[in-house]
Amino acid sequence: MDKNNEKKRGHAIALFSGGLDSTLAVLLVLRQNIEVTALTFMTHFGCDLGDCSSCGSNPYPVAEKYGFNVKLMHLGQKFVDIVKNPKHGRGKNMNPCTDCRILMLNEGKELMEMLNADFIFTGEVLGQRPMSQVKDRLNLTERETGLSGKLVRPLSAKLLKPTDPELSGLLDRDQLEDISGRSRKRQIELAEEFGLQDYPAPASGCLLTDENYSKRLRDLLAHTEHIGFDDLNLLRVGRHFRLDKNTKVIVGRNEPDNLQIMVYRRPHHFVLEAVEIGSPTTLLIGDTSEDNIKKAAMITARYSADKKKPSVKVTLTSDDTNPTYDVPPADDKDIALVRV
Ligand code: SF4
Repeated sequence: MDKNNEKKRGHAIALFSGGLDSTLAVLLVLRQNIEVTALTFMTHFGCDLGDCSSCGSNPYPVAEKYGFNVKLMHLGQKFVDIVKNPKHGRGKNMNPCTDCRILMLNEGKELMEMLNADFIFTGEVLGQRPMSQVKDRLNLTERETGLSGKLVRPLSAKLLKPTDPELSGLLDRDQLEDISGRSRKRQIELAEEFGLQDYPAPASGCLLTDENYSKRLRDLLAHTEHIGFDDLNLLRVGRHFRLDKNTKVIVGRNEPDNLQIMVYRRPHHFVLEAVEIGSPTTLLIGDTSEDNIKKAAMITARYSADKKKPSVKVTLTSDDTNPTYDVPPADDKDIALVRV
């Protein structure tokens, strides 16, 4: 397999998550002595997928083992824009998979042109995912990105129309695969063939496919005109409560959450904590009226170590004040009504 010293027959760009499917796609192309530059995406939604088969795996060890380059790219605001307003709709939750694929492929296409590479490829498997990978969708993404003929799916290639590199003989179609559907049997066989170990289990780590995260995101989009990256980062931590259209409360579930909350806190967010007992860190964001401060204090008390006591002391920290409130812990039924 190690053909590092041989002259490469061509150069290809991979959309690469580090998951099993995109790794196998890279190995199938490398096997044909083609140089691979792998592009790994990051977003504010916990996913850096090239093929949706996993999320967040470190791409470097496998790249080093098999001899290909990895480039990391953060999709930043471009990705936020398609999440807010996807042209091709969403999946079951907030996941705008088709637009996401188009965006990633466009970025890959730009890199392909910049590096004068021959083609681009992904770890997509025909029929593996309900929305983004059925044949129509594959064709649509090709049309929208102008990549017709240049986009190869090595794992399902034999089930699809031959692409330019196959027609020109750069890629030997016979050495590509004809995998379809959700079974991972053939992928596991291939992993063994290539000596690939420790690949991540299939799971969509994309937060946009998570029902609870999607609820929070919908709530944020419905109530916030200008969404900052800190707002998005805060969606991943703690319990969230909507007090009114301008105001929300975020309560840490554990120590790591409490620390994260303080990292993403902005100066105008008020912080609440129960005094001298085990306490969550709470943020009050929005309308910081006395009434909302008391509600946030009661929610904080409910998740403190003294949640069963009739009253709990909770301090509030803002830029210029530091009062303490003596409040009863909020009732679970009331909390359920405002939980996002
Ligand atoms: S699940 Fe959909 S939105 Fe999330 S990374 Fe994959 S294709 Fe993109």
